[in-house]
Amino acid sequence: MAKVLIIGAGGVGQVVAHKCAQVPEVFTEICLASRTEEKCRKIAAQLPRPIQTAQVDADNVPELVALIKRFQPELIINVALPYQDLHIMQACLETGVHYLDTANYEPLDEAHFEYKWQWDYHERFKEKGIMALLGSGFDPGVTNVFTAWAKKKHFDTIEELDIIDANAGDHGQPFATNFNPEINIREVTAKGKYYEDGEFHETEALQISKTFDFPGGIGPKKIYLLWHEELESLVKFLRPHGLRRARFWMTFSDNYLKHLEVLQNVGMTRIDPVLYNGQEIVPLQFLKALLPDPSSLGPLTKGKTCIGCLIKGKKDGKTRRYYVYNICDHEEAYKEVQSQAISYTTGVPAMIGAMLMLTGVWKGAGVFNMEQFDPEPFMQKLNLHGLPWHEKFLDEE
Ligand code: NDP
Repeated sequence: MAKVLIIGAGGVGQVVAHKCAQVPEVFTEICLASRTEEKCRKIAAQLPRPIQTAQVDADNVPELVALIKRFQPELIINVALPYQDLHIMQACLETGVHYLDTANYEPLDEAHFEYKWQWDYHERFKEKGIMALLGSGFDPGVTNVFTAWAKKKHFDTIEELDIIDANAGDHGQPFATNFNPEINIREVTAKGKYYEDGEFHETEALQISKTFDFPGGIGPKKIYLLWHEELESLVKFLRPHGLRRARFWMTFSDNYLKHLEVLQNVGMTRIDPVLYNGQEIVPLQFLKALLPDPSSLGPLTKGKTCIGCLIKGKKDGKTRRYYVYNICDHEEAYKEVQSQAISYTTGVPAMIGAMLMLTGVWKGAGVFNMEQFDPEPFMQKLNLHGLPWHEKFLDEE
């Protein structure tokens, strides 16, 4: 029995609101707040039971504190943008409320993310006796849980980890991103990075690629090496257990990459302000205003996503390769919550993380990543709440 405050009424916020509303025995009261309250009201109107809505600027800590004092939630689910993370964590500290998010903090003026800023809150959360769960989406999120599950159930040591993310869906648009375009393009145009033999190695953006044969009827697709935030926490967690290499891969269509290259070449992906007609504009923010809103892609997108972890390591002295993954269908996700699978695969794990915190299954005081908790209850809930997973052993040497 708990009150939950969801902040952010975008594609992911919509799924979180639907999924929390489906579990009234845990989420007894829900408030959905965002910068534009109209978007919250539109989502509220789709739900099977009434929820509250509110307007809030999540970059304004006193405004957040006032809303928290008014609604008195036990937990905040932050599905606004990564820029808001620290402000919302600060408001949680001031009011003694638990915190959960799906993406780590990123400063607005620098395309750079790392956990340091949020891990720095650990002692203060601990002293206050509250918990922050970081990265409870799919990747990060379920990929961390998959890895912890593999470690618990199938391996004594994990030597190689490859997280592989395919969106094999098609929305029929010449160019669009499946989640917030600004965050997506900042991620894809950043330099690549992976961990090998005790250190991180940097690559040019999208420099390394190969082909991977995906299950579920998706088939072979080209995958590109990217730096992704869960590698930072997973390397920290697995390094003492024999980890030699960790990488993250994502599929992109040739069409997407062609558009991105042109946009980059003409300066449209820049994140520094430029003067236009006497006014400062940030080209990437302007581009976001021109591109289709990811939530509008829901009814148009067909096909599947497949996200999973390919792991090599040892069990009882023998080398084995293991693959654990989920396949999510865009059209089925839309039928259930009126959002495509990218938002669905993020929003469901956010609800599950919140449920495990509120029911005391995952508990602690301080700031935590997903792999620090027992993966078993989370794996069970994935099967129950719309993201069933599959596992298989590949050729054993
Ligand atoms: P959207 O852009 O669709 O939604 C973001 C929402 O946050 C919008 O409703 C926006 O309001 C609101 N917002 C932005 N700034 C503020 C503010 N200052 N105060 C209050 N509300 C604000 O993004 P998505 O739903 O696609 O993504 C949400 C989060 O999920 C992001 O952090 C993203 O990185 C993360 N994510 C994580 C994934 C994972 O697997 N871990 C995968 C995909 C996304 P407005 O509508 O008024 O602009």
